[in-house]
Amino acid sequence: HLFDESGRRFIDAYNNVPHVGHCHPEVVEVARQQMSLLNTNTRYINDRVIDFAEALADTFPEPLNVCYLLSTASEANELALRLARNFTNARDLIVLDGAYHGHTTTLIDISPYKHSGPGGSGRPDWVHVAPLADIYRGPFRKADTAGLEYAGVVESMIQQLARQQRRLCGFIAESCPSVGGQIIFPDHYLPAVYAAVRNAGGVCIADDVQTAYGRLGAAFYGFELQHTIPDIVVLGKPIGNGHPLAAVITTPAIADAFNNGMEFFSTFGGNTVSSLIGSTVLEIVRRDRLQIHALNIGQMLQHGFMELKSQFQIIGDVRGSGLFMGIELVRDHETLEPATREADFVVNRMRDRGVLVGTDGLLHNVIKIRPPMVFSREDASILIDTLATSLFEIPQAGR
Ligand code: PMP
Repeated sequence: HLFDESGRRFIDAYNNVPHVGHCHPEVVEVARQQMSLLNTNTRYINDRVIDFAEALADTFPEPLNVCYLLSTASEANELALRLARNFTNARDLIVLDGAYHGHTTTLIDISPYKHSGPGGSGRPDWVHVAPLADIYRGPFRKADTAGLEYAGVVESMIQQLARQQRRLCGFIAESCPSVGGQIIFPDHYLPAVYAAVRNAGGVCIADDVQTAYGRLGAAFYGFELQHTIPDIVVLGKPIGNGHPLAAVITTPAIADAFNNGMEFFSTFGGNTVSSLIGSTVLEIVRRDRLQIHALNIGQMLQHGFMELKSQFQIIGDVRGSGLFMGIELVRDHETLEPATREADFVVNRMRDRGVLVGTDGLLHNVIKIRPPMVFSREDASILIDTLATSLFEIPQAGR
């Protein structure tokens, strides 16, 4: 829950950072204790950082077993790019339309959500934007064939780069694009893209910042939904439960090549307090079986939202996995005219009634739901009821 200045309580169905719950007492307590004992950087190696790095690496399939710790996901994506550029000695990168990877200068360059949005000045020539593999609104919409069709577009882009004598550094995508509208990729998409990228000498980076640690219910990491293994994975947001903590996990081959004398060091990345918080959050996720909880509550939400879809014309699509859900509002099921104003109305009405959700998507017409993982059955049922009442109140002209 969150509370406003008057003490009014809101159900938080939006914040995916406090993964195990806002102000989780165990996280607060280990942080307090470690703060009063020791907090140094990785030049003073100790068990706290090793324990976390090992526990984290253990959650990944081989050969992903080398781990770098940082404080924010922007830093982690920057490091992922450094690793990829160093390994391939190339620069050209394929990204997805609508993607967001962070706030630094280079990450704005690789984030169409920013460089093609308000105030943006477009993509640099080394960034190549592939269509978002969105089977509701994108060019390919048949669930069973769309994955390979979208991957085919990336393959054509790679061939085009080769014809222009440009060398490919790699491909980066959020495992389930979030600001792009809570998209779940069609089957076979990432495996086919990864194969094409590797074939051209590039590396595959999965930005799992939004989807890690069981949020999807059906998988612990987002890339696992696609039954594939990236070369570099980037984690952030939930892994510190609100404390600044991020990580890059990669293969020994990529890490060894990076060990070229330049050195990687971050003052705060891997500090003692953050590392202990990292271990504690991971332990709570496992011990309290939050992934299965996300699967169960996610199914309840999915069922509730599908029922609303049959009642409210304005709901065009209900999608997601576990506690990562999107409800796309449209004015017309044929033209898919986005119901952006209505989505905004619904989100604000829900807030008036004490439930926090948000909007996102390229057209800002997707209601975005990704609560902390401790979201209860009761919370879910209040969320569904509040959504129903708020949808009912959309002014008739806009419904
Ligand atoms: N990648 C993704 C997918 C994100 O959603 C975000 C943050 N919204 C980032 C990277 C950047 O994270 P940070 O703000 O911690 O730098």
